[in-house]
Amino acid sequence: MSVNPATGETLRSFECATEVEVQAAVARAKAAQTEWNARGVEARIRILGEFQRKLHERKWEAARVITQEAGKPYVEALLTEIVVVLDSARFLIGNAYRLLRQEDVPHGGLAMKTKSGCLVREPYGVIGIISPWNYPFSIPSTEALAALVAGNAVVVKPSEFTSLCALELAKLLHEAGVPTDVFQVVIGDGRSGAALINSAIDKLVFTGSVPTGKRVAQTAAARLLPVVLELGGKDPMLVLDDADLEVTSSGAVWGAFVNAGQACLSVERCYVHRSVHEKFVEACAEKTRKLRVGNGLEPETDVGPLIHERQLRIVESHVDDAKAKGARVVTGGKRLPELGSNFYAPTVLADVTHEMRIMREETFGPVLPVMAFDSDEDAIRLANDSDYGLAASVWTSDRARGNAIAKKIAAGTVMINDVITCFGISEAPHGGVKASGRGRTHGKFGLEEMVCVKYVDAERLPGVKRVWWYGYSEAFARQMEGFVDAMFARGVVARVRGALRSAGSYVRKGRV
Ligand code: NAD
Repeated sequence: MSVNPATGETLRSFECATEVEVQAAVARAKAAQTEWNARGVEARIRILGEFQRKLHERKWEAARVITQEAGKPYVEALLTEIVVVLDSARFLIGNAYRLLRQEDVPHGGLAMKTKSGCLVREPYGVIGIISPWNYPFSIPSTEALAALVAGNAVVVKPSEFTSLCALELAKLLHEAGVPTDVFQVVIGDGRSGAALINSAIDKLVFTGSVPTGKRVAQTAAARLLPVVLELGGKDPMLVLDDADLEVTSSGAVWGAFVNAGQACLSVERCYVHRSVHEKFVEACAEKTRKLRVGNGLEPETDVGPLIHERQLRIVESHVDDAKAKGARVVTGGKRLPELGSNFYAPTVLADVTHEMRIMREETFGPVLPVMAFDSDEDAIRLANDSDYGLAASVWTSDRARGNAIAKKIAAGTVMINDVITCFGISEAPHGGVKASGRGRTHGKFGLEEMVCVKYVDAERLPGVKRVWWYGYSEAFARQMEGFVDAMFARGVVARVRGALRSAGSYVRKGRV
């Protein structure tokens, strides 16, 4: 069922796709993929161009669907979803041909100089995509565009909370010229997702929570299905003593509350140097109090609702746990029932510790917990004291200091003096380490996930028997010792001696 989280209005009801229906969709995709691949990259790039044109033309319509179904302010739907997809198309249109074409592999080893090799990038076949509700348009779109341009067919199982956004994507792709069987959407909950993993797909790109990701990985492992896992985050923000507090506090507030804190890249933990901690907390609180919470379709709204009441209860339980263990609520810390059942006040917490759930588990809500640190080493230790490793940010006026700290943080991405926007850089790989996932989406590495690399090797002297073929003997063993020396001995003299000793191997007796 698709429900507007701001108003509770039912937008549309759906039946979940059954196992048989999912299998049938995948079978149709498989049958259609051969012709799609045969069209070639350039033809597919032209279709991507058409998709980009149509999406640009209908940006208002698509952004409205996103706001209605996912609750985020309209301007966020436009900037963090539509623009991300338009730009991802721009990247693929400009680079897919170069990145997917055949690539020569020069051989460095002396013994292999007579061969020439190349890499051929081939589509997997059918890529299954299982996606979450928080970026219901940009996540399946960016993944699907990369899969499609590489010659795969795609079957998407969107979140059961945001099916309309996926159908919007399907409509645009089909109108642009992607055959209906080459891109399909199967609607449903976790059971339909599980059916997709057990179907005949050739690879899965899963985006969602860590617990579901672990289940998905187990199911996929049973049939050795390759998977990309884009999972949850608990991103730290490190504010050093030389940071510009006016800019940094605005960055923290946006990073914690954009999409009501329901971003995998949200600022979920904020560490501030003790010398500026109080000033920073006050600046964040002051800016947070100014945020307007409400229906995302209202142009003045800064922060929308949470996706559903269950999510709100998780947020509430993390804040309650923190309060019970001594955290100070600087602002917020309560539901806003006057706005609807899914609204929670943007909240700043101080005096938090790593004993609190708010600093250890993904909260996925509008809460900015702030903790003081004493040195750069202390900040790095706190940032890395987490099961997660999606992204992090370092805020400083000293770029070299920021770079040095970035190298020591265990994360897929570290931003210096910014948050979250790495997701909108189409060239940048997106993905995590530790529990935050495996593999990458976006950019060159995201495109590489959509292809199998085949190595094709050709002998330049097909009329000559290889020296290492049968006809082994005592003399041949000595010759081969010489051959190894010719390649790897230290010093020119030893190498030349080795080469001379090996020379007879080409004309040896008893060669088969
Ligand atoms: P979720 O794990 O509950 O669901 C994700 C998807 O998996 C949904 O489509 C759901 O129907 C499906 N699913 C559920 N059970 C399944 C099963 N057993 N087999 C197959 N599919 C199943 O996550 P969510 O609540 O939709 O999304 C929020 C989570 O996603 C957060 O943890 C967030 O950090 C994460 N996320 C990560 C990224 C990233 O790029 N790393 C991006 C966005 C969201």
